[in-house]
Amino acid sequence: MFLLRQIFRVVALLMGLGLGLLLQPSLAGAGDTATVRIGVLAYKGAEAVQEDWSYVRDWLEARIPGHHFVLLDFDQAGLTRAVQEKTIDFVITNSGHYVVLENNDGASRIATIESPWALSPRQSIGSAIVVRSDARLHTLADLAGRHVLAVGPDAFGGYQIAARELLQAGVDPEHDLTDLQFTGFPVQKIVHAVRAGQADAGIIRTCLLEQMIRSGEIGAGELRVLAPIDTRGFQCQTSSRLYPDWPFAALRHTPTELSKRVAMALLAMPRTADGYSWTIPSDYQIVGELFRELKIGPYAYLRLWTFEGVLRRYWGWMLLILALLVVWAVHTVRVEHLVSQRTRALREAHEEQRRMAEEARVRQATLDHTARLAILGEMASAIAHELNQPLAAIRNFARGMARRITAGRLEPAPLQEGTNEIVAQSERAASIIRNIRAFAQKRASEQQSVDLIAVLGEAIALFTGAHPQARVIWQPGAAQPARVIADPVKIQQVMLNLLKNALDAQQTAGHAQEPIEVRFRAEASAYLITVRDSGCGLEPGQFAHLFEPFFTTKPEGLGLGLSLSKGIIESFGGTLSAAANDDNAGLSVWFSLPMEESQGDI
Ligand code: ADP
Repeated sequence: MFLLRQIFRVVALLMGLGLGLLLQPSLAGAGDTATVRIGVLAYKGAEAVQEDWSYVRDWLEARIPGHHFVLLDFDQAGLTRAVQEKTIDFVITNSGHYVVLENNDGASRIATIESPWALSPRQSIGSAIVVRSDARLHTLADLAGRHVLAVGPDAFGGYQIAARELLQAGVDPEHDLTDLQFTGFPVQKIVHAVRAGQADAGIIRTCLLEQMIRSGEIGAGELRVLAPIDTRGFQCQTSSRLYPDWPFAALRHTPTELSKRVAMALLAMPRTADGYSWTIPSDYQIVGELFRELKIGPYAYLRLWTFEGVLRRYWGWMLLILALLVVWAVHTVRVEHLVSQRTRALREAHEEQRRMAEEARVRQATLDHTARLAILGEMASAIAHELNQPLAAIRNFARGMARRITAGRLEPAPLQEGTNEIVAQSERAASIIRNIRAFAQKRASEQQSVDLIAVLGEAIALFTGAHPQARVIWQPGAAQPARVIADPVKIQQVMLNLLKNALDAQQTAGHAQEPIEVRFRAEASAYLITVRDSGCGLEPGQFAHLFEPFFTTKPEGLGLGLSLSKGIIESFGGTLSAAANDDNAGLSVWFSLPMEESQGDI
């Protein structure tokens, strides 16, 4: 084989030289030798490039004098780089890579190789998926879940052609294989790996297996091509449809004249002893279709934007995001539910509190009213006595005036005095009734600015009017009005209660005639009112219960007076307290009320 090739090379050189001299006498005479670089895809390794393609170099050198042709081997990425960096003038590569170069870098084919095994230059290359002969794999679909080797994602026969067939068989090579491993060049190592059982299948370009069997690299029965297609006339087994053979391409920067001469020389090249020759450039459209289906090369953008593509590629992440969204939604709904539940509970609690406060207020008002009526009830006979005085005075004056009129003593002065007295006494009676009515009315509490001395004075007058036997010493001592913010009727209620308790205690002790002292003192920010009696006082153990509701030592007592009084005084910001007198005779009960001026400070 090698010898044959060498003989052919010498013959071709001589022929080339002869023809060159005949056809292009002008070029033959050119002085300097220009170097023309041909970049070749080294799919079988660097050495194979020189061995397989030297006949082309020799032929061109012979046919185009004055030019020195060199073959440079590259892997696919290196070859692309060399095209872009313009370090080569021509390219020999597989059809897939050529279509990419044509699209991206302006490569243009000037001839297509005719291989001896091919049906035609248009149907020359496919993918052979090799498996061990005894493997239980029969269809392309059987490869799902298998460990498969291929040359590289860019390899045309060594991956892309087979990938299209697998996709059509329902096996997505990128997702449905357990392991898709790219080995790179040289391709032969894939064959060896499959044979050694390191993988279930290997994707190689067609005819490589046959070449390796022919050269004795592997035994004939060791491997087979999976799911071979019947392509009559094609001399190798293929697992795929067939694609155009390798092109010889000029580049954008290659001089047109040189391209033309190279094209002519290639077309003129006789078939080699191995059966290779060059023909007019083939149609590479089918390669474009493959790229579109695989969404690679010039159609890679399709992969980015299709919904299916995005779904296939990111389904894991999308599932995770969906799960997170679901968790988040559940959490949000739960939180909202909890919040609404708590809000409802709070609203109900608030409503309940408001209802209870309202009930308490009504109860308190009723209690106050009852307490006032009780005081009034106790004072009823005293009030009647109080009213009797002005009525008796009116009667006396009226009688006196009647007697004068009967006796004809009609001097105006005494008559005038009599009528004035009658008016004054009836006003006094009216004022007593007004006071009692105001005190007895069931009414809402009213806070207002009141003169404490005046209010206390009225309460004491009411009390002494009702209890003539009581002696109350009241010396307010302050000339200025003492203003507090309070309800005057309630202050009177407290005062009457304290005076009544003092009188009761003195009567119990048999000291009804002793004076009850009411002291008034202005302190820093409050007024202090003390009711001091000389009654029976309290047992030491009773002090703790004094202000408790229903604590009473009297047979007819309700035990509400002091507890209500304490509530009233505290509602105006004051305090109510009691202590035994220093001399141990009787009790002092006192209350404080904040001065109106100091109210703002509270
Ligand atoms: P009531 O007068 O209906 O008993 P109060 O709440 O006004 O109700 O008084 C409760 C109790 O406190 C009285 O029963 C009495 O024992 C005692 N108490 C109140 N004031 C005095 C006082 N000045 N001296 C002695 N005991 C008093």
